[in-house]
Amino acid sequence: TRSTRPQRMLKAVQKNATRGDPLSVISAIDRFCRHSEWAMNVGDEKGTILDSVVSEVNPAMALELGTYCGYSTVRIARLLPPGARLVTLEFNGDYAAIARQVIEWAGLEDMVQLVEGASGDWIPRMKEHFGVKTFDFIFLDHWKDRYLPDIKLLEECGLLRKGTVVLADNVICPGTPDYLEYIRNSPSYESNYFRSHLEYTKAEDGLEKSVYVG
Ligand code: SAM
Ligand code: MG
Repeated sequence: TRSTRPQRMLKAVQKNATRGDPLSVISAIDRFCRHSEWAMNVGDEKGTILDSVVSEVNPAMALELGTYCGYSTVRIARLLPPGARLVTLEFNGDYAAIARQVIEWAGLEDMVQLVEGASGDWIPRMKEHFGVKTFDFIFLDHWKDRYLPDIKLLEECGLLRKGTVVLADNVICPGTPDYLEYIRNSPSYESNYFRSHLEYTKAEDGLEKSVYVG
């Protein structure tokens, strides 16, 4: 039977990227998506914005919602300081299986905890299950109608602290209007838009960076 897109993306990594070299994994995926098949990774253009926010925050504890094939996981994890951890959630088992191999190819498996399951089920269990107090950095990139309920759940579960940085992808395309309305008007956040383009296209999209101020 025909292979899936994630399987073909993994093949491109195994063929063109060097084991233990995260940048080569990132470029192999970007080349595959620009020249062969589009895929829903944050991509190279928004990826440089993601990189600069992660570097600025220098998180000891990071959370990603929506792993897909592990592209943004690799982008984030490679920038973490020694001893830091990234928890990433993916509810599709086929994607999670590919992501594990991509993360391992990049040599980042020791700092990444990939959890197979739905955000709504796992967020309330983070404290007990992962010994997390609060997250320093959160990347929202799962299904767009989940950004709003999940940021509220993260608040309720006490997983944000003053200064936690929440970065949300695809706030224009496909768009997250209810989330933007909430985060820009809530006195608990200072929020800024970073204009860019939808991954591997010229269509406008961007990232919303929101600092929790309590
Ligand atoms: N962050 C990835 C990157 O840039 O490389 C792309 C993530 S993709 C846009 C969104 C992923 O979130 C999909 O793989 C989907 O299966 C997963 N997902 C959607 N809703 C979810 C939820 N509520 N909990 C866990 N995973 C979810
Ligand atoms: Mg995205």
